[in-house]
Formats: sequence, C-alpha cells, structure tokens
Amino acid sequence: MIKECEYHAAHDLKEALELAEQFGPRKRFLSGGTDVMVRLKEGLVKEDVLLDLSRVAELRFIREESDVVRVGAGTTHMDISTSPVVRQYGRALALAASRVGSTQIRNMGTIGGNVANASPAGDTIPALIVLDAVVSIVSRAGTREVPVIDFFTGPGRSVLAPEELVAELHFPATGPGELTGFGKLGSRQAMTISTANMAFYFRIGKDRRIAEARIAFGSVAPTVVRARKTEQLFCQLSPVLSWDAIRVAAQMAWKEVAPIDDLRATAVYRKEAVVGLLAEAAYEALASCWHER
Ligand SMILES: Cc1cc2nc3c(=O)[nH]c(=O)nc-3n(C[C@H](O)[C@H](O)[C@H](O)COP(=O)(O)OP(=O)(O)OC[C@H]3O[C@@H](n4cnc5c(N)ncnc54)[C@H](O)[C@@H]3O)c2cc1C
Repeated sequence: MIKECEYHAAHDLKEALELAEQFGPRKRFLSGGTDVMVRLKEGLVKEDVLLDLSRVAELRFIREESDVVRVGAGTTHMDISTSPVVRQYGRALALAASRVGSTQIRNMGTIGGNVANASPAGDTIPALIVLDAVVSIVSRAGTREVPVIDFFTGPGRSVLAPEELVAELHFPATGPGELTGFGKLGSRQAMTISTANMAFYFRIGKDRRIAEARIAFGSVAPTVVRARKTEQLFCQLSPVLSWDAIRVAAQMAWKEVAPIDDLRATAVYRKEAVVGLLAEAAYEALASCWHER
C-alpha cells in the first residue's frame, strides 16, 4: 500500500520557498515525480509531506545570456535534449538528457530532480561536471552557488539543506574549438539506468593539441568523479589523430575509477566500459573536428 502523505502544490517560487521552510525535513519535493513516485510505492519515502514544484513556471526555462547557458531546475529532459541552445552551447548535456529513460520519462523527469537525486548513475551529472556547471540553490534566506562537482556528498546525498531547493543550473556556453560529448552503457539501448556513463570536454588549441580536458564518469564510484590523470594524458596526445594513442590515454581511466560489483555489472566490466566509452566518443569527436579544419 502506498503511504499517505500530505500534498501541497506551490504556484510560484515564493510560495515554494515558504512551504519548504514551513515543512523543513518533513517534506519531499516533487518535480516530475519519476523518481519520487517509484520510491513512494516501494515504501522508501520517509517524509510525510509532498511539496509539488511542477507548477512553478519560474523553474522551467532555457536561455543563453552573456555567454552563459541557464537551465531552470524544472526543465524536462525532453526540453533540454531538443533545445537548440543546449545542443549548440552544451552538447554533452543535450546528449545526456536524450539518453534518460524513455520518451515518457523524459517528458516528465527534470534536470533538478536528476541532480537533487544525487545518484552516481544520474545521466546529466557527468555532462554538467565537464561543462563546469554551477547549481543555484535558493531558500528564503537567498541564493547560494555551488559548483556541481561539490554538490554531492555521497550516493543520494548532497549539500542541500531542508529549506533549500535547486533553482537553476548554469554553465559557460561552449564555442568554436570546444568539443563536448556523452556516452552511456546500460543493459539495453533505452529505458535503462547507466551501468557506466561518461562525459568529456576538450578545448582544442591552435596547434591542434588538446589544451584543456575535463572527463567525468558515473556509476563507478559513490559519486560521479573527474578523471584528472586521464585528462592530463589527453592533453599530451600528439596532434596526429591516432586510435591507438587515444585508446592508450583512455586506458588510464581503468586505474582512476573504483566501481563495485552489483546487480547491474561487475567492477571489471565497468572499468572496461568507461575506457571503451571514452575512447570511442573522443575519437569520433576529434576526427570530426580535424575533418572540419
Ligand atoms: C523507468 C525509469 C527510467 C529511468 N531512467 C533514467 C535514466 O536513464 N537516467 C537517469 O539519470 N535517471 C533515470 N531515471 C530516474 C529519474 O527519472 C530521473 O532522475 C529524473 O531526472 C528525476 O526527475 P524528476 O523531476 O522526476 O524528479 P522527482 O521524482 O520529482 O524528484 C527526485 C528527487 O529530487 C528532489 N527534487 C526534485 N526537484 C527538486 C528541486 N528543484 N530542488 C530540490 N530537490 C528536488 C525530490 O525531492 C526527490 O528527492 C529513471 C526513472 C524511471 C522510473
């Protein structure tokens, strides 16, 4: 039997923040509900108040202003994956959103829910990390900004206080010479939680070398992780495109991730998966970039 909860729907951000403060740790936010409703059915929701944010129009937007892309927490994965702004200025995020669940899940599920869930398998998280995204967190006391990489404190845990909500994710718009991508491996092509996922950002210098690299992996540690040594190796690659060299650089990821065996895959499988995901996506992106020049 589904647990009975008190239900409150906020109609604007001001009301959402007032209700969040009033109910504090007794409440759980509900955005798309794709995760909360499953947990409710499984008896995993300990809070007794549901605070619905889905009618708060101020949380649903995508815009680019002064070279910064801003995505409201209530924006759905469908809106993100089809947004010309995100596709142009934050491709990794558009790709990640396009791989979340099914059409139905993407139509309901939001980026705020994906981030606040703090799952190590959340698909938008590695993309947001390599894009250097920042989480805008609001409460009645004001707004604070936390880099996405610092937002997570463990599986299912984050720095959010009970009276706070995620309002927005924002990141610098990528431009010419900046490549980003996302890859995921699950038990099937669609409607699958990632066994491993990966996102990258490469800034290509005038000499065709990678001047800056950011690489993040999900489902391979308690939180999504950056692979700093692998990033360094990518920056040392010769400007001559070579599959073997890229594969060798990607191999460093094997040592940098610390997955566990679980129902979905073994640790060794996950290590192989991240190396393969990175090598293939990086080769494809670099090859198309060389081709264009
Ligand atoms: C069948 C199925 C397939 C799925 N496939 C994937 C997948 O491929 N990849 C993936 O990453 N996820 C997947 N998910 C998980 C889920 O759909 C996503 O994480 C989704 O983005 C959650 O968003 P939501 O708006 O539905 O969150 P909700 O269910 O409404 O909320 C999730 C959590 O975030 C909190 N929350 C929501 N909004 C805010 C906010 N603005 N501020 C603070 N806290 C907030 C809620 O209190 C709750 O704890 C899947 C789920 C299902 C049921």
